[in-house]
Amino acid sequence: MKHENVALFPGSFDPFTNGHLDLTQRGAALFDHVVVAVAHNPAKTSLFTPEERVDMIRASVKKLKNVTAMHFAGLVVDCAKQVGAQTLIRGLRAVSDFEFEFQMGLMNRRLSPGLEIVFLMPDQEYTYLNSTLVKEVAKHGGPIQGLVPPPVERRLLERFGRRAARRGKE
Ligand code: ADP
Repeated sequence: MKHENVALFPGSFDPFTNGHLDLTQRGAALFDHVVVAVAHNPAKTSLFTPEERVDMIRASVKKLKNVTAMHFAGLVVDCAKQVGAQTLIRGLRAVSDFEFEFQMGLMNRRLSPGLEIVFLMPDQEYTYLNSTLVKEVAKHGGPIQGLVPPPVERRLLERFGRRAARRGKE
């Protein structure tokens, strides 16, 4: 990967949505290689394990030949160093994202002065989309088609379908 322009796209991705996919595609067009990195944060309750999230991302980005997925624990800047990324990709959906992203961006730059942070905007149709909303809709049996890539849709239906079936037996 030497001399390649590598970008790291870190996040929780619990689960990966079409908004995340949109950003990954934009990143793949801008950089030689994009690494989608699932943050493993034991303090946060998540629906899917980091391994499951990585599997779903890999299945969703199969057609993008310069995109790979992994999970990591610890600092984003250390993960960036490990994969040889000079740039971080983050998303801005609305002004409400700005303050948090700005603080985190400045902290990451302080921790790793050589790192550049690039903010990308998704297509307008994904600006309202986030993983929490998708989980809520799926949990209550609402339609999630078009909100997440098909491999994620299958896993969500499996997960909540099984829970609903278990509840039925109780
Ligand atoms: P985190 O917990 O690190 O914010 P997320 O998985 O929620 O992780 O998001 C990862 C990145 O993707 C963030 O920069 C977030 O702003 C961006 N993002 C999330 N949802 C969307 C979306 N619908 N469109 C574009 N970017 C998004």
